[in-house]
Amino acid sequence: MINLNEHYSELKSSYLFYNIAQKTNAYLQKNPNTHLLRLGIGDVTLPLCKTVVEALHKAVDDQGNKETFHGYMPECGADFYKKAIKDYYSLRNVDLSTEEIFASSGASDELGDILDLFSSNNTTLIMEPAYPAYVDANVIAGHKIIHLPSSKDNGFTPSPDYSIKADIIYICSPNNPTGAVFTKEKLSEWVEYANKNNSVIIFDAAYEAFIEDDEIPHSIYEIENSKKCAIEISSLSKTAGFTGTRCGYTVIPKDLAFNGMNLNEMWVRNRTTKTNGVSYIIQKGAAAVFTASGQKEIKENILKYKQNAKVLMQALDECGIWYCGGKNAPYIWFKCPNNMGSWETFDLLLNKGKIVGTPGEGFGKCGDGFFRLSSFGNKEDTVEAAKRLVELFKK
Ligand code: PLP
Repeated sequence: MINLNEHYSELKSSYLFYNIAQKTNAYLQKNPNTHLLRLGIGDVTLPLCKTVVEALHKAVDDQGNKETFHGYMPECGADFYKKAIKDYYSLRNVDLSTEEIFASSGASDELGDILDLFSSNNTTLIMEPAYPAYVDANVIAGHKIIHLPSSKDNGFTPSPDYSIKADIIYICSPNNPTGAVFTKEKLSEWVEYANKNNSVIIFDAAYEAFIEDDEIPHSIYEIENSKKCAIEISSLSKTAGFTGTRCGYTVIPKDLAFNGMNLNEMWVRNRTTKTNGVSYIIQKGAAAVFTASGQKEIKENILKYKQNAKVLMQALDECGIWYCGGKNAPYIWFKCPNNMGSWETFDLLLNKGKIVGTPGEGFGKCGDGFFRLSSFGNKEDTVEAAKRLVELFKK
């Protein structure tokens, strides 16, 4: 009799997006031809930038020529891509060797796959509200999970609690769903906790490109002593519109070792066993993101999303509603007015404002009473949604 991974049966069904779709479809059935303003979207809407598209086209041509054709790429990533990332980190005085950088097909793959490095006998701390994949990947891996709720009081960036012993800690900054960012001081507290407790931090930097405040770290390696305790996982999905193109990177410092085992060496072994790398074409397109013209063009796109965020923040300010995010992140997380629950707010926005957003409760219990708006929608709809938010909520 085959033994299956029983932990799959412990996964909780996620009703969040299913419920949103159900309610939205029911509304549209009753009110056909209504144009809904979709601010729940977690996907990007702007296309790849010109420099990336040109690099992709050229790479396709390379693959069609005997002289420039590439077969398998190195499992851990092509040197030209890893060098581009190394140089990107050096702009913030983070010194990495290319051997510490691994090309990936995106952050989602890595956030779960990385758990191969750890035995099932571990406790994982997840700060909530959280990106749902953290919990699910750790349930599948059989880890014990500690949910650390965060709140408006700590700006949704909790500090470590030394009475809690965790082996693996997920930190996401800028955060999905709250848009909150961890300051250097706050991240240093977690690095100190991890080093004292022999824990590892998995730092999700998927939204680092949205940071505009100079003092906010883009990488955990901007924090002293973090190379002894942290893995960083990042992605070009939101940075450069790669959600459908798929490329990211993971950093595992050479200094990261526990019980005489080196995590960088273990991950090399893992990748050389479990993947044959990211395609040459995609890595060429991804490397182009880090060229001068690539950086200029992706920043123009990010600015367009930020403009959307600004319009929404102004509307919330006008209504006197508390929120975080928006400034250094594509998400705005607001406190539902009049003590409404997050689904109550969803229904009100849908029925009265024709706006579809994301109820905070879907990201963990402590998200009830909060609501996520995304700036990834189109400009006209966002401007109209902001107007309707003011009509609905201004006292
Ligand atoms: N991490 C966070 C916090 C995200 O919000 C997302 C996607 O929405 C990802 C990771 C996944 O990114 P990718 O498209 O690279 O798999």
